[in-house]
This record gives sequence, structure tokens and C-alpha cells, in this order.
Amino acid sequence: KIVDKHVAEWKYTTCGYCSTGCSIEVGLNEAGKPVATRGHAEADVNRGKLCIKGIFEHELFEAAGRGEVPLVRDKPYDSWRQTSWDSALDKMASEITRIQETYGRDSFAVVSTGQILTEEFYTLGKLVRGCIGTNNYDGNTTLCMASAVSGYKRSFGSDGPPGCYDDFEHTHCLIAWGSNLPEQHPIIYWRLKEALEKRKFPLIVVDPRVTMLAQFADMHLPITPGTDLVLLNSLMHVILAEGLEDRDYIEKHTQGIEAVEELVKQYDPVTASKICGIDEDTIRNVARLYAKAPAAMSIWTMGINQSTHGSDGVVGINNLNLVTGNIGKPGGTSLSITGQCNAMGTREWSSCSGLPGYRALENPAHRKQISEFWGVDEDFFPEKRGMFMTDIFPAIETGQIKGLWLVATNPMTSMPQSSRIRKTLEKLDFLVVQDAYQDVESTQYAHMYLPAAVWAEKEGVFTNTERRVNIVRQVVQPKAQSKADFWIFTELAKRFPNSANMTFAQSPAEAFVEMTELSKGEGRTLNISGMDHDKIEAARGIQWPYRDSDDGLKGDPRLYADGVYQTATGKANLIALPFINNNECPDDDYPFWLNSGRVVEHFHTRTRTGKIGNCNKFSPTPYMEMNPDAARDLGVKHQSYVRLVSRRGDSVVMVQLTQRVPRNMVFIPFHFHDCVNRVSLGLLDPHSRQPAFKQCAVRVEPIDQG
Ligand code: SF4
Repeated sequence: KIVDKHVAEWKYTTCGYCSTGCSIEVGLNEAGKPVATRGHAEADVNRGKLCIKGIFEHELFEAAGRGEVPLVRDKPYDSWRQTSWDSALDKMASEITRIQETYGRDSFAVVSTGQILTEEFYTLGKLVRGCIGTNNYDGNTTLCMASAVSGYKRSFGSDGPPGCYDDFEHTHCLIAWGSNLPEQHPIIYWRLKEALEKRKFPLIVVDPRVTMLAQFADMHLPITPGTDLVLLNSLMHVILAEGLEDRDYIEKHTQGIEAVEELVKQYDPVTASKICGIDEDTIRNVARLYAKAPAAMSIWTMGINQSTHGSDGVVGINNLNLVTGNIGKPGGTSLSITGQCNAMGTREWSSCSGLPGYRALENPAHRKQISEFWGVDEDFFPEKRGMFMTDIFPAIETGQIKGLWLVATNPMTSMPQSSRIRKTLEKLDFLVVQDAYQDVESTQYAHMYLPAAVWAEKEGVFTNTERRVNIVRQVVQPKAQSKADFWIFTELAKRFPNSANMTFAQSPAEAFVEMTELSKGEGRTLNISGMDHDKIEAARGIQWPYRDSDDGLKGDPRLYADGVYQTATGKANLIALPFINNNECPDDDYPFWLNSGRVVEHFHTRTRTGKIGNCNKFSPTPYMEMNPDAARDLGVKHQSYVRLVSRRGDSVVMVQLTQRVPRNMVFIPFHFHDCVNRVSLGLLDPHSRQPAFKQCAVRVEPIDQG
């Protein structure tokens, strides 16, 4: 417990960094200034604990680089001119209209985030779909969670992680696929560790690198990058060949087993071992452990998602759980661990990929329902989704898109091939950056900057990885003239003609009521109809589904407990997944795999943690992990600088020698500007359009230190 004699009042809110969803309290001194943060002791999620990012979160409000006033200029690199909110929003609306009238409605694109409040996502979707009318609207979640979304939809007929953190306390076997919880999601790791200490069960980590989680594992499977599908198919081969599957579950609740059985015959452990690098006995042992466990679960993060076959990897994990009957039961699940604090909120309510509440543009009934609810002509909606974020940037290059609005996202650092992104942004007729921090790298190329409030300068909700909706309460007023994103969206909406027939909520709480109305319906999993802001705060988070008729403050901990899925037949899809090796593999010219990931101190592109004292002090600079044997071959020394070269560009980085990476791999944390994404690969998964950040080929050139 933090005892701070300067704290006069503690205010409840939810952490604004990762998707774990920790309940926090921010301590204010007598002058109302945030001076401390602590975990809420009774919160189900974190039970009083916080990681280093959460502990120093109160420093965010006054961190360097906050924007204070709206700014405009005629072209990038000119001096900024301060302007009023009215003038800025008038200009923004007129520029959007001019671009759309000249080049077509879809020539203006919007890319948002996973970091604003759910009510803000809902309102932005209403503005974009109902007033602006562009179909090129997506979120930066395409860089991190799109493969999970796609995989869930293909397997279960709908998005939504079916499990929860409590599953750690019931499982008998856990496989972590490309997920390094102690650094990415420290409090979820702490929950797992508590469960492991109470009940010993096998923890199996599949990761090409000896991550921190791998160090604590019972078995570490150092897989060849990009070959997860081969291992998954081989596990299925063993399970089906040895009769370890749950035949009753397969027959009652799934469809498609015949094609899967046929395909996985090719993936016997001997053959698979040669491709994925895991020996045949280990494959057999893991398959038996998983299938024979009374309940088994898989978790995954970017190691699966950020791949040219990320969506197939997710479906492969779902296949494994479906054939062993491990969905919807305590300890048996497929749980994708999401990234940003409200990546789930954007999936659920933003309309990026369709219409709010997991509705699809492709479904005429959904279009009709939302057009009537919002008061928009149904013909105004497109009949299929537009471009993903990763397709929007190439469309700027070709001149198809002329204007772009970035909301709390920083593609200059987060997108692959950042040198190319710089030239792309320079081509825009009109770029608006809306962010709490004026100094984000993407603002350099903007024509307009809108200062947004940070998370706990506003009110609303986030949804975490386990579908728990938690409240964000306002701790302090927005800094200077910065405004809540909600206010910016509703004010901008007034400047478009369609808004005359629409009603926009006056507050996030009112918008939440609209969302609850839209979530009602027989058989809907995304049902929040029984929730309101006060109930959510009282419970310190409620999981959906949670219906009008539910008693108490607990939603359903798991989806599909009744074995009924969101497909037309109600049965889950088992899908045969042939492995096609489309990775950029090492060769004579580029002999190393490049892997990227995270460090515990930083969040995303460091727009926030790069300015927080202890986070930045502990991890101030980028570095590249390299195996000492490989370094010796090249004459590279510990802490020397090298040039990292790929087919896309180069980057200079300091070397850290470690046995964490195998001899043919180097690893760099992705958070730093002008570093790993100068060389990373832009190939996309065909289903999710998510980039393969984690596998490409590079060479290392020593730099003469003399
Ligand atoms: Fe915040 Fe995530 Fe850390 Fe919890 S684990 S304190 S949600 S950053």
C-alpha cells in the first residue's frame, strides 16, 4: 500500500496503458495535483497490484510535449499558427468536404486507435459512418489484434475472447504462443504465477526467443519463426491419430472435422519437426499433455498475430481447443491477450470494420437497424467494409486518398518501413493529428494539430482482454485548451449536413445508454444492456454478456459455455489450414531473422512512457540482442554499434550480447522511433491485413569504432 503524506484524496479510475485493465486510484494533493498512483485492493483484475507503468501513471498529466491549443499551418514544416477550436473545426470540416467533393467520398481516410474511451469510439463511428461518409476508416488495432479478430470470426462466427483470467485458476495445461506476459502484461503474468504456485500445471512456451516467460516455463519450444501453423497441425495430427480428441464435443458443436483430419495427416511429427524446428518427441508429448488435461488453454499475443499467416495461426489454436473440447469451460479456452487499454472497445463499438456492436456492413439487416437508430439514410452506408489501415497508406501513395485524420496513433513510428511512411504522409493534401501530445512524430507532417485530453481527464469506459468493462473517471480537468475526444467528435459532427437528422449524445454516459440499447437482442454475445457507469464502478468492472435481466454485478465469465456459436448453424468451424511458407527467410545476403517485441517499461511508441521519469530511465535507448557466437563471427562486441540492413532500409543500433536469441536471430524492442521499423517487413496477412513485424531477414554490419 502506498502511504503518501501529500495525498489528500484518492480517485478511482482504470489504467490507460495495456489491456490487462487494472483498477487504479490516483492520489491528488491538497492543490488537486496528481502525485501518486496505487492499485485498487478489491479489484478482481489486479487485487491491488500495478506494474511500473501504472505506478507512475499520475506523471502523465503533466508530461512534456502535451499540446495545449489547436494549431494550423498551410503545409508541413511551416510555422504553426494558434487558432480557436471553432476555427479549427470549421476548417477541418471544410477541408474534408472539399477533398470529398473533388476526389470522392472515400478519398478522405480516418485512422484511430485502441486508446480512447468506448463511448468515444462509438461517437467517432457515428460521425464517420453517419456524417462524413468515408468507408476508409480503420484503427491501429490492425497492427496488433486484427489477426485475433479475424481468427475468432472465422472459427466462432464472431469476435470476442471467450475466456478470462480466472481460467488460470482452473486449467491443467497452458500453452503461451508468442506471448511474453512478464514484460507485456505483468499483472496478467502475476495472476498466472499465483495460479501456478497454488496448483502445479505444465506451462509450455512457444517462442523463438528465450523470453522472460520462457525462463519460467516447464517446456520452452524455440520454434522456427513463422512456422506456428506447422506445429499446430502436427499437434492435431498426434491428437487425432492417437484418438485423444473429444469426439462428443466435435460432433455436437463443430463442423468441418473431415477436411481437418485429411489435411493434418501430412503433418506427422517427423515431417513437421524438419520445418518448425521442434523435435518429434516434444511434439508428441505436448499433444498428449494438452489433450489429456481435464482442461487446457492457449494464450497468445503478437508472436501469432504479427505474421503473414496470423489469422490462420489463431484459427489453428481455436481448432486445437475445439477438437479437445476446450472452449467455454473453466480452464479450457482460446484467450488472445490484447494490447492497448481499449483495443477491445474499438473492436466492439467503433464501426471501424463495420457497424457498432459487432454488426457488419455486408448484412442488410444490420445496415437497416443502424440507419434507423441513428437517423441516417440507409443508402449512405457502404455495403462492405473499406480499407484496412495498412491499405490506407499505399492508397495515399497512389493518390487515391488525399486527406487523413489520425486519432491517437503514430504511424511514423508504429508502421513498417517508416522511411516510406514519411514520404507517404508528405503527399497528403490535408493531415490532421489529434493527440494529447503535440510532439508525436507524425505531427511533423500535419496541417492541423488538435490537442486531446489524456485518458483520466475524461469519463467513459474501457473493455479489457477478458471482456470486462471498467470505468474511467475524470481525475483532473483537461490541460489548457485540450478537449475530450468525445467533445471534438460531437462538435465536428455539427458541421456536416447529415447531423441535422441525427442526435448525438451530450455526454459519454448518454452515449453509453445508446450502446446498451444497441446491444439488446436474443442470442447476442456482446450484450451490455444491464450496465451503467455507476454499476460498473461499484463492481470495479463487469464482464459482458451482462443483460437487463441479470442479477448482481457479475457478467458471464466465458463465452460459448453452452456450445452454441455465432455461426449460421450454431456450430463452430473447424478449418483445414495448409502451411504455405511465405516468410522472408534468412539467406546468404541477409543471414539473420529479425524479431521485435516489447520491454516492460514502455508502451507502444513511447509517446507517453518516453517522458515518464522511471520508465524512461530504466529503458532509455534502443538496443539489439545478438547471440555471442554470431557476434564473434562478425567481430561485433558488446555495446558496440552496428548497422542493421534489410531489403527495405537500414538502422544503426547498439548491440547487447545474450544467449536469449539463437545464433541466427537478432531482436529489437519496437518502441523506438527510427529504429526497427526502418528495416521491418510490410508483408500482410491476407485475412487480417496485419503486418508481419516479427519475421524478416537482415544482415548485421559492424561499424568501424575507430
Ligand atoms: Fe496498467 Fe497494464 Fe500495468 Fe496493469 S499491467 S498497471 S493495466 S500497464
